Amino acid sequence: MDIALLASGSSGNAVLVRSGGSAFLVDAGLSGREVTARLDSIDVSPSELLGIVLTHEHTDHIRGVGPLARRFGLPVWTNRATLEAGSATLGKLPHWVEVTMSVPFEIGDIWLEPFSIPHDAADPFGLTLKSTQGYHVGLATDMGFVTQLVRARLQGLNGLILEFNHDLPMLLDGPYPWSIKQRIRGKLGHLNNKDAAGLLGEVASPDLEWVICAHMSQQNNNKEIVVTEAKSALNGLLSMPSSASLHVATQAEPTPLFGQGDRRNLPGTLEVEELN
Ligand SMILES: [Zn+2]
Ligand SMILES: [Zn+2]
Repeated sequence: MDIALLASGSSGNAVLVRSGGSAFLVDAGLSGREVTARLDSIDVSPSELLGIVLTHEHTDHIRGVGPLARRFGLPVWTNRATLEAGSATLGKLPHWVEVTMSVPFEIGDIWLEPFSIPHDAADPFGLTLKSTQGYHVGLATDMGFVTQLVRARLQGLNGLILEFNHDLPMLLDGPYPWSIKQRIRGKLGHLNNKDAAGLLGEVASPDLEWVICAHMSQQNNNKEIVVTEAKSALNGLLSMPSSASLHVATQAEPTPLFGQGDRRNLPGTLEVEELN
């Protein structure tokens, strides 16, 4: 199983998952045309896709879902509340497959397990993905705080895509109106760096090979702070392996494909690869 974030942040999110001969997207929050261009840049054709999983109906996750689904005849996996809340944006879909929280489902040879996350959408979810070989990846962005369920679901992973949305002091001192600041930092908003790093420290195990810090705010965060926070969370762990690689996803371009063995290590250190 290989995974790439085609884009990440409040202007659009899309994740490509590829395994064996099959591939699918989790969210498509860029225009259909832009998703297609970014897939092309990593040599994936949309005609190879088996479908799109939609985690929630916010624009930065849903924008391209309807156009791509219609153009390529793709099924969309999501729960009923998200389908209903997103219906105006989605338009008519060729095929909807219902997702039920905490009930695993299969796309190609990947098992996906959705879990509820606290966020101001109809019924948002994070995911764990498991290949037939047992390679295990977690995806959790767009969450206001860390619940026991999230903590439990993200244990023992090989790869983790985790929201590092904002630096709290930058958000509070920044230019956004107070109501927006309250929304972002609220229980149904987005995860700040400290909370994300705290969670990372709790769930990291010797099996963890890579971490992608995702959904970073362009206004209220920067890559240096994210790297510092994430690194200190991992470096503080006695149980950590010799290394794990740490990456920060951006809005501007896709990440490389991450998969088994992508632990680019120097013994005893955390290898940090900063993209662009
Ligand atoms: Zn989002
Ligand atoms: Zn959202």
